Parts: sequence; structure tokens; C-alpha cells
Amino acid sequence: MTASLYIHVPFCSGACDYCDFYSLPVKEDDPRPELYIDKVLSDAEAQFARYGIGRVPTVYIGGGTPSVLGAKGIRRLLGGLLWPGEARPLEITVEANPESADRGFLSAAAQGGATRLSLGVQSFHEASRRQVRRTGEGRLLPERLKAAAELFPCAFSADIISGLPSQNEKVLLGDLERLLSYSPAHVSLYALTVEEGTPLAKKSRKAAGLPPMDEADRLWIRGRDFLEEAGYGQYEVSNFCLPGKESRHNIGYWRMGNWLGLGPAASGTLIDDATGRGLRRTVAPDLDLWLNRERGELESEELLDPPTLMKETILMGFRYIEGPDTALFRRRFGRDLEDLIGRTIARWRERGLMRPDRMALTKEGLLFLNPFVTEAFEELEGRRPPCRG
Ligand code: SF4
Repeated sequence: MTASLYIHVPFCSGACDYCDFYSLPVKEDDPRPELYIDKVLSDAEAQFARYGIGRVPTVYIGGGTPSVLGAKGIRRLLGGLLWPGEARPLEITVEANPESADRGFLSAAAQGGATRLSLGVQSFHEASRRQVRRTGEGRLLPERLKAAAELFPCAFSADIISGLPSQNEKVLLGDLERLLSYSPAHVSLYALTVEEGTPLAKKSRKAAGLPPMDEADRLWIRGRDFLEEAGYGQYEVSNFCLPGKESRHNIGYWRMGNWLGLGPAASGTLIDDATGRGLRRTVAPDLDLWLNRERGELESEELLDPPTLMKETILMGFRYIEGPDTALFRRRFGRDLEDLIGRTIARWRERGLMRPDRMALTKEGLLFLNPFVTEAFEELEGRRPPCRG
């Protein structure tokens, strides 16, 4: 079986107010990152064997903040992974945050085989950063971006967040312009979402200094248009790139490829094309238990039936500008997607929100992904009322 690999690094140098990822603050003399690397390396070997993985086409080392592992840590992690089969992965992405992504770390990642870097810029604007307690200092960004551009030429991506406190159109477009001066190949423009349970969710939008929702939506659209005009084509809800610079690993998620997840809080999905059935393996978010146990209730395996996977294929596939992989859908489930959600497709085509040439939303259609998915699910489940205007 072929499966991509996601490795979750559960460490950060701080805690941002809007974050709901599993990560723990780590200090310099903390022994856990070293123990974590040992465990990931042995776990990778065990999981490849357990699930019969014969080839790993793409790898994504995310988190958390992989750059807190330092140059030595990333060298050891990348150098210690034993790939099954003959071929090395085609794409290996490493995430990094400016406060820990110094030149030593970036060189070690590049020399260790990383082919892409994803840098968490988020904003150059100090007031916005401070108000959401973004880790790291904005003043480090120019130096880190310069090093990223040198060490990952045509192969680095940067994240920017829209809808931050103290951010207006001038600030957001100024941030994007500044970022593009370092020639990233890829930009992720995320609209800030207030996730339940985060410190940000404890305040009202107003008290947190966040713009009203309609203003936040307008800002994101201005950012999208700016990137498009600069030659960065939108290829997913929040992702833009120069031609040919898409993240292959992420396309694998949107097209429901197979992947394994390693590390606390990681999950993976493996689907059998012959039966349309799948398996989801999830690791509980508990680093200390994960480090100290071989295998047990920390890891759960859930069987996924074809109806569940059909819905996930719709949910993920329509995020992507090329839409779901319809041939794979037919092979896995023995049905044409168009037969199952044909009325929804026709209605969205009439509205000009579905591409005429393929089963995929237009760029404007992507703005209405949630209502589209709701309608498609209703039709799939035979629940949709005959006419909804
Ligand atoms: S650096 Fe990233 S993963 Fe870490 S707390 Fe901030 S948003 Fe979360």
C-alpha cells in the first residue's frame, strides 16, 4: 500500500491565543524532544510494517513547531527515518516558526532532505501579533525569510492570517506585499477562526479587538484578490501558489489519499480501493503517556464504512479547485459521484458557482463551501427537499 506520512511535533516555544493544536511549551534543556524523536523513529518503522506500507510519496512534519527541535534534532529525525521500498519520498515539507527557524535549522532541514519549508509568518504587524499573543517576535521575520528564500529557493511557503486585531486592509495588503518581496513559491492565507476552548474564545470579538465578521470576510477576499493579481493562483480554500508549486502532500488529503499519522494527536486514514472501506488511526493528545507506553488505549482504530468515506470525499474534495478525484470515487464506491449528488451539482452550475468543465467549485463557489456541502450531503442521504429556490 502507498501512504503519505504526517508527523506531529507537539512542542512550541509559547502558546498563541487562537491555537487549538496539541502542543506543549518547551524550554531549552527539556529532554522530551530527544525522547520524542527516538519514539517517532521506532514508531514509523513499526507502523509501516503493521499496515504494509510499501511506498511513502510525501511527508509533512508539522505541529506544533518542528523548528523547536533545532538543527541537531531535525537532522536526526530526517536522517533516521527508514523509507519502505526503493524510492525516497518526492516531497518532504518541514514547518518552522521564525523564532526557532534560524539559518542552522534551515540548513540542517535542507541538507537532511526537506524539499519544502512552510514558515509561520502570520503577520509583520506587531500590534496584531501582540493582541493574539503570537509566539516569536516580528522583528526576526526579515532575516528568517531571507534565509528561507536562499535555502529553499522556489520551495518555501508562508502562512499569513487575515482578520487579526488591529488589522485593516492597508495592514493586510502591506503584509502580503512585504512577504512577496521574498518570493515565496506558495502562500497560505488563513481567515482567523475563533476555536472553542482557546483563550481567544473566552472574550467577545469586540473585547479581543477582532473586526466584525463581515469586515473580516471582506478583508480575506481583498487578500485573495491581491495574491491572485500577483500571480499566486488559488488552488484550495486557503492556499495559493505560483504555477506548479502546489503542496502535493495536502492535495493528497483533499483527494482522500492514504496517510499515516505519527506522534501524539496525529491521525491517519487508510482506504482499501477494492471495498471502499477504511481505517482511521488516531493517537491521543498526551505526550508523556505516548513516550512511556508501547501501545494501548492511547491509539485507537476506527473502521470507516463507504457512506462515511463518500461524505468525507465530498467534504475534502470540493475544497480543492480541481474537485474530488471522480475516477477514484467510482473505483472505490462503484458509483459515479455525479449520480449521487447530480441535482446539487446542476443547481450550483446554474448559479455559476460550479465549474462548467469539471465537478469542482469556482473560486467564488469556494466562498460558499459549507452550504454546498450541506446540500450535497442532504441529496446523498435522500433528505433534500425537492426545491429550495
Ligand atoms: S506557534 Fe503555531 S502551533 Fe504553536 S501555539 Fe502558536 S499557532 Fe499553535
